[in-house]
Amino acid sequence: MFKRILIANRGEIAVRVFRACREMDIEPVAVYSQADREALHVQLAERAYCIGPARSADSYLNMDAILTVARAAGCDAIHPGYGFLSENADFADACQTAGIAFIGPSGDVIRAMGNKAAARALMRKAGVPVVPGSDGAVDTAQQAQAIADAIGYPVLIKAAAGGGGRGMRRVYEPAQLKALFEEARGEALACFGDGEMYLEKLILRPRHIEFQIMADREGHVIQLGERDCSIQRRNQKLLEESPSRALTPALREEMGKAAVAAARAAGYENAGTVEFVVDQEGHFYFIEMNTRIQVEHPVTELTTGLDLVREQIRVAAGLPLSVSQEEVFFRGHAMECRINAEDPAHGFRPSPGKVGFLHLPGGFGVRVDTGLYPGCELPAYYDSLMAKIIVYAPTRLEAIRRMRRSLEELIVEGPAANTDLLHQILYHPDFVRGNYNTGFLEEHLDTLLTWSGSGEEVEQ
Ligand code: ADP
Repeated sequence: MFKRILIANRGEIAVRVFRACREMDIEPVAVYSQADREALHVQLAERAYCIGPARSADSYLNMDAILTVARAAGCDAIHPGYGFLSENADFADACQTAGIAFIGPSGDVIRAMGNKAAARALMRKAGVPVVPGSDGAVDTAQQAQAIADAIGYPVLIKAAAGGGGRGMRRVYEPAQLKALFEEARGEALACFGDGEMYLEKLILRPRHIEFQIMADREGHVIQLGERDCSIQRRNQKLLEESPSRALTPALREEMGKAAVAAARAAGYENAGTVEFVVDQEGHFYFIEMNTRIQVEHPVTELTTGLDLVREQIRVAAGLPLSVSQEEVFFRGHAMECRINAEDPAHGFRPSPGKVGFLHLPGGFGVRVDTGLYPGCELPAYYDSLMAKIIVYAPTRLEAIRRMRRSLEELIVEGPAANTDLLHQILYHPDFVRGNYNTGFLEEHLDTLLTWSGSGEEVEQ
């Protein structure tokens, strides 16, 4: 087993990985930017190294600085968390060259899944259903026009290197296509330095359903059930739950098998997520595979009782998975809310700054993953995620009630937060019935921001 792991991240996920290391008797080593000197992950660590100025490009994305620290501190592995270098194939390769284990899949696998147009092609070959669309990359607006005419409008223009909902445009009419294609490509170039585009049919009012998978070096691949991540704003997830109300047992089984087939086709190792959209008729389509631990992984940890970060570390150290598929048991219902430092009443504008008084929820069935502490500073340089509240209960309705009361207990003085919006979602009759899709938030936003739905209850 590893002796010392460098955690190449910050915020709640750095804290999360720290905890796994400590429980495994592995020494965690922190790195931080100048804006994060006082951050919780730095305070928890016995060893912490500054890797550069606040800007991510100068610190958390600085491969050389991170590898230099890893060597100097005698680390035998690096955990990248999510975001930053977690899906950077060159970084995974550089770790390998340096003789340091990268806790994730190989650079080649990351590269293969990182190009979403190529990943689609690979999945189709493996018999995993993909959204109807282009065969690989689309180079020009004219080409896009021809493909869109063939598959039918509306279509979705996507960036092959895309992530975080960037470089993506919905096109409802042929007349819009050329301008939106150029716009999407411009955004993709600016965000990812890569203007490769592809086309998919826009599935109307789909559910976003993803499957957690885990694979080891010996070729064992297991799936750990689904997460329904259909509560999204601008293609960014806000609330996730498992199991999904949208799946029948038969569909769940079929999708679970497809997720395992996808991982096998990719020659996968470590933790990964196979993402699908499910249309109104219950057809499912692969959209992408994320080759890292996800923000919403605790949902799966609560329904399966498996520590996914621990499992990641074990697998990277060459150990087999600690359970077989037959030994995975799903129980109860889990739900996660992302508490973001943003102001929904003012166009969700980011709200960094100093946190004053802080009270986090707790009690039976409640888990909070956060880098917050009273008096901490939220730098403006990074994402707005402040905390994740994850609840577990035997049934969905009990989980909803537990989440409502958890949000009611939360007090974060200082930055604006999206807590009230989440609370309103948890009272919306359609949400309570489990009757929602990726259009839910946009459709109901005005009502959710002004309405006070608390107190009433609908039948599930
Ligand atoms: P990113 O990597 O940028 O997050 P994804 O391919 O994962 O992009 O898609 C993000 C979100 O966009 C999905 O969760 C879903 O809500 C929506 N989406 C993606 N592809 C389609 C599609 N073909 N039809 C409808 N919605 C889609």
